[in-house]
Amino acid sequence: MTRRASRVVSGSRVTGRLHLGNYVGALENWVRLQSEYRCFFFVADWHGLTTSYEDTTEFRSYVEEMYLDFLAVGLDPAQVVLFVQSDVKEHAELHLLLSMVTPLAWLERVPTYKEQLQQIAGREIATYGFLGYPVLQSADVLMYRGELVPIGQDQLPHLELCREVARRFNHLYGPVLPEPQALLTEVPWLPGIDGRKMSKSYENEIRLGSSPAEIEERVRRMVTDPARVHKSDPGHPEVCVAYRFHTLFNAAAREETETECTRAGIGCVECKQRLAKAIIRYLAPVHERREQYAAQPGLMQDIRQDGARRARREAAAVLESIREAMRV
Ligand code: SF4
Repeated sequence: MTRRASRVVSGSRVTGRLHLGNYVGALENWVRLQSEYRCFFFVADWHGLTTSYEDTTEFRSYVEEMYLDFLAVGLDPAQVVLFVQSDVKEHAELHLLLSMVTPLAWLERVPTYKEQLQQIAGREIATYGFLGYPVLQSADVLMYRGELVPIGQDQLPHLELCREVARRFNHLYGPVLPEPQALLTEVPWLPGIDGRKMSKSYENEIRLGSSPAEIEERVRRMVTDPARVHKSDPGHPEVCVAYRFHTLFNAAAREETETECTRAGIGCVECKQRLAKAIIRYLAPVHERREQYAAQPGLMQDIRQDGARRARREAAAVLESIREAMRV
């Protein structure tokens, strides 16, 4: 089988607007994969509800913005099946059917389940929906007979659960579902501007859709080497958040930045101004495409509907074979 024939499935959970961490962590990789594999990429809006069901005021706009961002980063709807999860109701049916065969203990032992219950403070997420989200994830992948799932090392337990669900299904009803494999991806670590993990909940993110002025403002607030009080103090780039961004978005000038910093040849203000310019330059093609698509809401709607139609066509065929095997 050629690479192009292998099916890759992945989604992005809706938790707010996409940021640079999402871009370098997943979307850039998706763009690389789209010409090599048969890709199904989707806005995982139902997954977003598992932790954000209490306040859905901006939920629809987040979904629309994420779809727009997918197009803005360069995902090509002619090459990729690009859709919104809730536009394809078959995901809900497969989730329900797979729930019947998934033992509760498998879900309770998923490491992120207990971790997130503790970490997400102030929100009631000990729900049936939250416990079952790995089954929904399994449905998302198995729905398209996904063979490869681009993930980082930390997501392997989720994929393992998906493989176990497929195996159990096949054992009970006959060989219908392929067991997907990981397409292990080196995810570059990108902190937020305060040095913690970049996340909307910490309000330390730089959004993909930020204007140049917003990017400059965010970069100005980035944490630097705390020991560097005066411009004449030699800096330690390895502990500086701004430097980490330089290595990813201003890679051509990385050595120069490091040298100037360690020799106290540049002040942090100027160093960050250079960084802001580099990030703005890096994102310029994304912003340009974003504006072009945003100016054509009719086209956006057509692309989204077409993506849903193509996803449904695939999903309906697979679901039919699943119903047949289960005799339901
Ligand atoms: S000069 Fe640049 S790399 Fe060095 S501490 Fe300041 S912001 Fe960080």
